[in-house]
Order: sequence, then C-alpha cells, then structure tokens
Amino acid sequence: MKVPILDLKPAYAELRAELDAAYHRVMESGWVLLAKELESFEAEYATSVGAKHCVGVANGLEAMQLVLMALGVGPGDEVIVPSHGYIATWLAVTHVGAKPVPVEPDPQTYNLDPNRLAAAITPRTKVILPIHLYGQTADMEAINAIAAARGLFVLEDAAQSHGALCRGRAAGALGHAAGVSFYPSKNLGALADAGAVTTSDDQLADKLRHLRNYGSKVRYHHEYLGLNSRLSELQAAFLRAKLPHLPAWNARRALLAGRYFTQLRGVGDLVLPTVPAWAAPVWHLFVIRTAHREALQAHLASRDIGTQIHYPIPPHLSSAYAFAGWKPGAFPLAEKFAHEVLSLPIGPHHPPAQIDHVCLAIGEFFAGLRQTA
Ligand SMILES: *Cc1c(COP(=O)(O)O)cnc(C)c1O
Repeated sequence: MKVPILDLKPAYAELRAELDAAYHRVMESGWVLLAKELESFEAEYATSVGAKHCVGVANGLEAMQLVLMALGVGPGDEVIVPSHGYIATWLAVTHVGAKPVPVEPDPQTYNLDPNRLAAAITPRTKVILPIHLYGQTADMEAINAIAAARGLFVLEDAAQSHGALCRGRAAGALGHAAGVSFYPSKNLGALADAGAVTTSDDQLADKLRHLRNYGSKVRYHHEYLGLNSRLSELQAAFLRAKLPHLPAWNARRALLAGRYFTQLRGVGDLVLPTVPAWAAPVWHLFVIRTAHREALQAHLASRDIGTQIHYPIPPHLSSAYAFAGWKPGAFPLAEKFAHEVLSLPIGPHHPPAQIDHVCLAIGEFFAGLRQTA
C-alpha cells in the first residue's frame, strides 16, 4: 500500500464539477484580476473567520509583509516571532527592515510560549507575530493579554490553521490582523500561490487594498509605496469552490488524527501532539517526535509511506540568517525539535486504512528496535 504525504489529485476528483465551473465562470467573465470572484471570496472568507475584512494578496509571506508595511514597521523596530516555525514568518519581518526577535515554544504545543514573551519585549518591539503551527492556535488569550498591557499589535500567522479555534473563536480573528496562505498544500489551498489578510480594522484593510496594488486604488493615483501582490480571479474562484468543503475536510483530518492517537500511544519513544482543552486544531500536519527520526523515516520510506520534516533547520540557523550571528544553542528547544519532528501523512483524502497501515509500520519499526537493543 502506497501512502503519499500529499496528493492533490483526489481533491480535484471530488470537486471536479465545482472547480471546472469556477474555471469557466472566470474564462467567460473576461476579468482576471481584482474583480467579482475576488470580491466575493473576500466576503465569504471574512465571514467564515468572523473578521470584518479579508484582503486577498499573492501569498502568505506577502500577507504578513504587507501588514507590517501598513503599520510602518521598519528599520529599528523589533517583531517577536516563534523560534520554532517556518522561515516565511521571519522573512516578512526582515523584508520590511525590522528585526525578528525569536521566542522559544511551549514544549507541549510547539507554539510560542506566552511565559517567555514578556522577557523578549523591549522599547523597540512593535508587533507580536505568533504562528498557529501545525493547525493548532497559539495560546492567544495569554498572548493578547500581554500585548494589550504593552500596547503591541498582534499579527497572527494563520497559514496552517484555516478553521482552527481558540476558545471557540477562529484563527484569523484572534489578533489585530492575520496573514493567511492558500498555498496548495494548506487546509484551504488554491491551485497556485495565493494568500490574504483578515482583520476587523477598517483603516488597515483600506490601506492593504492600496498596498497590494502598487499603493493605488484609483488607477494611476498612487498613495503609498506598494507591492504588486494580488490574488487572481481564477484562484479566488477555485477558493470559493473549496471553502464550503473546508469544515468537512477538517473533520476528516480530525478523524485520522484520532486514529493516530489511538494506535500510536505508548509506542516506542514517540511523543504525540498535545491539545489543550481550549484548542480545536485542524491538523494541517500530524507531527510526532522521536530520537530515532532518521531511521523511522527511512523505514517508512521503504514501505512506500511518505513523511516530511517541518522543519529540519530552524530559521536562526539557516544560511539566510547567518548575517544575524545566531549560533547553535541560541534557541535549544527549536533546535531539539528540528532534530526530532516527523510529519505523518494526514489529509482529507487519506483513507483511514492508509493511516492504520502507517501505524502498523511504525509499530513494526519500534518492535525491530527492541529486538536489536
Ligand atoms: C505556508 C506558510 C507560510 C507562507 O505562505 P506562502 O503562501 O507560501 O507564502 C507562512 N507561514 C507558515 C507557518 C506557513 O506554513
């Protein structure tokens, strides 16, 4: 049995009629940018999140970068980011000229640890930028409380958390604004790069509508130094077709996560995900930890089971950040997790039998370890 880590074909097979109709609608409209499909998607996505506005942009990285630009964050400013996460979050900060200030994760949830937040805040801090990693929100109640006390802006990185809840409220409406990615592998994925900002701040939303389009809303009248960062009509139409299916697809992921929990608890030295009582994750990834990661990954590969590592090198040790001078040991938790994490297959189109097969192969691996020990 072959178990791919990700396969986009079954999604098309399930939604062929809707996606084909979306394609034809755009082709026949004659409009390819900044028109009706985008406007409708923005309204529908904002509603689904519980935010007042959604502003479609080209991708998740630029969504966050544009918010920082809109806020005037730049050289001399600091933005707090998770030490354990994806480099895009840091790049958004670096690209506006500000300095990413990493904070270590809560070792249970892998998300930015609110208990370590206060110590990282300085007079230069402008924004706190937590990621809702692997589909589970950060502890936004604690983070928002600290931000409010210090007058700081909270920007969520909601790229992995479409539909995830924190105390009943959706990712994307938990801070002052959120950057969202619709990269094809995300829980809500377009068929190319796409992204958005959600916010309930009228002024910020208006400024973002300029900034994504050369700083202009009225053609050839440029109010700001903007980017070209637009979400195309075609991708907006595809996203409109997929959005109504998001809750059901997330529910399928949750079912598979349940299967992993049942079958993997107590197996070998595995550390399974922790879900706090207030969190309702959407299982963008199912991430386990083991000291035997490389051997386990090789064993699963030999059984045709795809896995991935999110992420093998923490941002602070990436060559791209060599200029900043962080040394190994600077963020020990991020470094430890980078050595131990392994993402197992989980997606709305994995049949439960495939997940059972993965669990069997993992059991087999650890049984083999015991014998050789
Ligand atoms: C995917 C992702 C991004 C970047 O989104 P793009 O649309 O690929 O630019 C940012 N942050 C996190 C946590 C992501 O998973």
